[in-house]
Amino acid sequence: MENNLKINIIGGGVIGCIQAIELNKLGHHVTIYEKDTIGSGSSIYGAGILFPLLPNNYSSEVFDLIDKSKTYYLELSEILNSQFGIDIEYIRSGMTVILDDLQDIELWLKKNKLSFSLEKFRSFNAITIDDVYQINPKKLILGLQKYLDYLDIEIYENNLVSNDLHNEFIDSNGKKIIGDRFILASGAWTQDLDHSMHKKIYPVRGQLIEYKNSNNIKLEHILFKDGFYLLQRKNGSLIAGSTLENVGFDDNLTNQDLEQLKNNAEKIIPELRELDIINHWCGFRPGSKDNIPIIVQDKKIKEKFYNVGHYRYGISMAPASVNKLISLF
Ligand SMILES: Cc1cc2nc3c(=O)[nH]c(=O)nc-3n(C[C@H](O)[C@H](O)[C@H](O)COP(=O)(O)OP(=O)(O)OC[C@H]3O[C@@H](n4cnc5c(N)ncnc54)[C@H](O)[C@@H]3O)c2cc1C
Repeated sequence: MENNLKINIIGGGVIGCIQAIELNKLGHHVTIYEKDTIGSGSSIYGAGILFPLLPNNYSSEVFDLIDKSKTYYLELSEILNSQFGIDIEYIRSGMTVILDDLQDIELWLKKNKLSFSLEKFRSFNAITIDDVYQINPKKLILGLQKYLDYLDIEIYENNLVSNDLHNEFIDSNGKKIIGDRFILASGAWTQDLDHSMHKKIYPVRGQLIEYKNSNNIKLEHILFKDGFYLLQRKNGSLIAGSTLENVGFDDNLTNQDLEQLKNNAEKIIPELRELDIINHWCGFRPGSKDNIPIIVQDKKIKEKFYNVGHYRYGISMAPASVNKLISLF
């Protein structure tokens, strides 16, 4: 592979940031263009579970990318901690899936040689998958920003890139962006930049709430039931979510939405009713068919690459997706 290339990445989410770091390590000159601020697309709003919620519901491609990304986060958490004092809260939390019929998931776990135990959660039928990790996405983005600065990677924030009639990329000052490679890591907004992605990548809103844990409730594992999960941050607060909504980029959140989220969470742990909600937010996932990201070189413009459409698992899949894209150079 050539080195010392000038590479422009459009989008500063988890994919764009990790892509920039890994390309920099290979000796390339990397620039990130971000229309808002680093992480402010979907990445900062995630829950941070590094595992598919119901793994048997996805193709092996999805699990493969997640599985291959696992060790990266362990190493990254050590680097961010030792070099910049940022704890991304990389925790082996395990995940308890509550389900009436556990047969399919059990078979899947056996096939993939993952350790688990069949134990009831309260009165519910449940299975606990041991090797499930989580991180705190806000801390991850903070850490990645420090790392990018440390590596002297050029970042232009508040810089909306557009594509002109000649298929050239133009920055928000109207200047043509020059480079050897262009990587679209533009998440749910990709279709605005590239019409060929229309309907292939689309926003899927997800809402989460955070409970202040004044009663010291301790979650032993991430809990998942009826499409809804609960997890605990290192400071004890409890995160519950999430929704899957096709509402475009509408970020208006209502009290009704909040009540719905509370009801779902409190069906799993009724004691949550005693706690105050301290946050309610949403983000726009880059939706894609079957949750399979598009990691390809453009068929016509050889300098152009896509690393988009990571849907529900972009944090989990980022490191392996980045490596997959690099292998296409
Ligand atoms: C509620 C919720 C919970 C989630 N939970 C998890 C989880 O537990 N585990 C997990 O793995 N994933 C989770 N996700 C999904 C995960 O957040 C996404 O898959 C991931 O963040 C996608 O990363 P990205 O870098 O592709 O996109 P983004 O983070 O959206 O980054 C794309 C960036 O590109 C910028 N951009 C777009 N167009 C342009 C342009 N023309 N010019 C310049 N900049 C541009 C945007 O501003 C944005 O910052 C969750 C998401 C949500 C919303």
